[in-house]
Amino acid sequence: QGSIAFKDVHFAYDPERQILKGVSFEVPAGKTVAIVGPSGAGKSTISRLLYRFYDVQQGSVTIDGQDVRDITQKSLRAAIGMVPQDTVLFNDSIAYNIRYGRLGATDDEMMAAADIAQIGHFIRNLPDGFGTMVGERGLKLSGGEKQRVAIARTILKAPPILILDEATSALDTTTEQEIQAALDVVSKNRTTLVIAHRLSTVINADEIIVLRHGEIAERGTHAGLLAQNGLYASMW
Ligand code: ADP
Ligand code: ADP
Repeated sequence: QGSIAFKDVHFAYDPERQILKGVSFEVPAGKTVAIVGPSGAGKSTISRLLYRFYDVQQGSVTIDGQDVRDITQKSLRAAIGMVPQDTVLFNDSIAYNIRYGRLGATDDEMMAAADIAQIGHFIRNLPDGFGTMVGERGLKLSGGEKQRVAIARTILKAPPILILDEATSALDTTTEQEIQAALDVVSKNRTTLVIAHRLSTVINADEIIVLRHGEIAERGTHAGLLAQNGLYASMW
């Protein structure tokens, strides 16, 4: 469930400037594909087209063979979970922020998700536990803690498709490794599109696509690309 296909996708925010110039790739159900490349290459645009913030001008984006234009916004949002670079939390309790993933979740389910996201210990030690307010009205969370809240929320939501858009880019190296470990657990056996500019976050992807100026410049596994080029020749 949840295979993704981009077929000859052309896209421009404004007609003067083509951003994606015929991009085709597939993410088979349960697999992970990483899109890497320099800033401005069009990586995030790909995730926006999947979420249907914009429509393609040519070509198609499909999920399980169905054009995203024929899927209701509600179903699309239910099918896709997103961990962005900088999670913006609601100025509300930790419980609200995590439960937002699935409003019917019980405290036990939330705690299980928090444990997988490696934030369970942290929450147990807060004076009000899940009830602790965050944001302007309460506790200030670090970047890594916010990402863990986002991961716990996504674990509760359990969507068939996951988009990780530079999910660890804003973190220091040690925190990045810890968050990456949590993300590896969540993305296992789930159709996952990883957007990244660092190679360290994509090593385990089933396929790596190097995007450059809106075109696929290279593709392969991490090992394959390394063997061909020593490094991904067109990445920087
Ligand atoms: P990447 O994720 O690879 O850094 P993006 O997909 O975010 O690249 O952006 C690709 C290009 O599209 C960039 O040149 C960016 O300035 C432009 N762009 C992104 N969003 C918009 C928008 N909403 N309107 C116009 N141009 C945009
Ligand atoms: P969902 O994935 O539940 O359909 P959205 O599509 O609204 O949620 O947004 C994608 C992700 O962005 C959510 O999972 C959530 O992490 C976050 N998000 C959305 N809206 C807000 C908001 N107003 N404040 C904080 N985070 C938000």
